[in-house]
Amino acid sequence: MSDAAPVARVSELLARPSAGGAVRVRGWLRTARHAKNLSFLEISDGSCFATIQAVASPELDHYESVVAGLGTGCAVEVEGELVESPGKGQRYELHATRVELVGGVDDDYPLQKKRHSFEYLRTIAHLRPRTNTFGAVLRVRHAAARAIHDFFDERGFVLLQSPIITTSDAEGAGEMFAIEGAEDFFGREARLTVSGQLEAEMVALALERVYTFGPTFRAENSNTSRHLAEFWMIEPEVAFCELDGLVELTVDFLRFVLRRILDERGDDMAFFDQRIDKGVIERLEHVVDADFERLTYTDAISLLEQSGQSFEHSVSWGMDLQSEHERYLAEEKIGRPVVVTDYPAAVKAFYMYLNDDERTVRAMDVLVPRVGEIVGGAQREHRVDVLRRRILEAGLSDEEYWWYLDLRRYGSVPHAGFGLGFERLVQFATGMANIRDVIPFPRVPGYAEF
Ligand code: ATP
Ligand code: MN
Repeated sequence: MSDAAPVARVSELLARPSAGGAVRVRGWLRTARHAKNLSFLEISDGSCFATIQAVASPELDHYESVVAGLGTGCAVEVEGELVESPGKGQRYELHATRVELVGGVDDDYPLQKKRHSFEYLRTIAHLRPRTNTFGAVLRVRHAAARAIHDFFDERGFVLLQSPIITTSDAEGAGEMFAIEGAEDFFGREARLTVSGQLEAEMVALALERVYTFGPTFRAENSNTSRHLAEFWMIEPEVAFCELDGLVELTVDFLRFVLRRILDERGDDMAFFDQRIDKGVIERLEHVVDADFERLTYTDAISLLEQSGQSFEHSVSWGMDLQSEHERYLAEEKIGRPVVVTDYPAAVKAFYMYLNDDERTVRAMDVLVPRVGEIVGGAQREHRVDVLRRRILEAGLSDEEYWWYLDLRRYGSVPHAGFGLGFERLVQFATGMANIRDVIPFPRVPGYAEF
């Protein structure tokens, strides 16, 4: 094998300034077309949206034994000469000198060169990554994750690994997965975390800027296109920061990440724009360029009341905004992302900073067209007396939160943070209709296969 051509990935080959030279490519066949005097093998290696076509002649000594039997799904290694492609839409192709079948397929390979429904593809999630759409989704996820780490790193944030097994409940509500055997093991009940926020607060009050990026779990039985039982959350927390600073950070963050997706994944985004959600690129460009609208909850309620729309959930001050209201605001009324602040204390968690009116808290939700809430955040209550009162009012035990209260007794400072569901972001960025189709292996009520 010492004189074999170097292995190249398709993304790298297609970026070459000129053809020429022997290369080796490995991947899976999207299609294999066997004509009388040539075979055309379309190879995908997942490195980019594009495939590369290998052309194999019946004159190859192993044509009959190998090439002629190749079909969709086969794993192959092809060695050949990189040449300009005469075909349209394809810059280069490979003139094969050697084709090796690495892994064959049984006759019932379920992915044929036709459109499969996303519902069907979910039932074959082990093969889903081989489709155009899921390859693109996975590469966008990667670009987004890298952008997120870069954004925080450039601003002096430290990545915090918060625990997945938790004994506190950041939302002060049920909807958590219990862990069987926790009682015996830990000597107390434990659950899967719904958020790393409280831990992020502890560390932010020492390192000033931290963020988490990890899995979170919610047992809420919401069978919607925007909820998963397991999803990834990004939770930055900043000390010496109030609501305005938080809004600024959030807007910069969303712009930065979306810009990077557009810049780095132009190929995949072009696909989403053409085949999944017409106009998604323009929508993202608009978010990157336009100012975000900022509204108080009270103003948002007035806009909704004056809208003349008939909502399923009727609008009145004090209610939590439902997805239909969020989408009306972002999609129709304002037409761009909206930051809503100062929600009624009663609909938000106990740890949010209570405003002087004693009725509202310094919460912040970012609403975007199509998805609705993409980010939820708040300035935290850093006054120990107010926090204790709010914990008790929420029906929680101040003893259990002793450490959370302690933080307010030893060097407490105003601090704020947000939570962004990674899949909501990817859903918004790609225009995919269902959140189950932007995570490799979705866990939702009634379903946890693979
Ligand atoms: P929603 O009202 O949309 O159910 P929430 O108010 O319960 O969300 P938060 O507790 O504020 O959500 O969580 C922070 C972020 O996590 C949300 O803004 C959203 O991006 C994301 N998120 C929340 N629940 C889910 C879920 N079940 N699946 C995927 N992402 C979620
Ligand atoms: Mn929220």
